[in-house]
Amino acid sequence: MTECHDSKWAGHPGMHRTLALVTDQYYWPHMDRDIEAYVKTCLICQQDKVETKKPMGLLQPLPIPERPWESISLDFIIGLPNTDNCSSIMVVVDRFSKYATFIPASKVCPAEEAARLFLKHVVKYWGIPKTIISD
Ligand SMILES: [Zn+2]
Repeated sequence: MTECHDSKWAGHPGMHRTLALVTDQYYWPHMDRDIEAYVKTCLICQQDKVETKKPMGLLQPLPIPERPWESISLDFIIGLPNTDNCSSIMVVVDRFSKYATFIPASKVCPAEEAARLFLKHVVKYWGIPKTIISD
């Protein structure tokens, strides 16, 4: 492995190239795992790693809402003890006023139920928001 990875003629190739060079002349069981571990722990490769991805841009903040209930965030608190067939909470927060609405929901809360709860507890009182932020 040293000869096929560290020598000057090899030039610290990546895992696949090192494996190809070694398999030309040698074989042992689980050699791919050994070579992968060897290449991953090579100090020279770790110090001289070139980033091939484009640099990440700066974080872009969300636009600030101009009026209440224009933009909301929606998330779920799950894994709560079961009470009246509800073991999660749908949390809707107005991003302008930070007013939060906590709506009990079933354990899984499929999309139909989430939409029904959203209409009943949010749209009914404050109208349809422009944007909903959720993960
Ligand atoms: Zn190396």
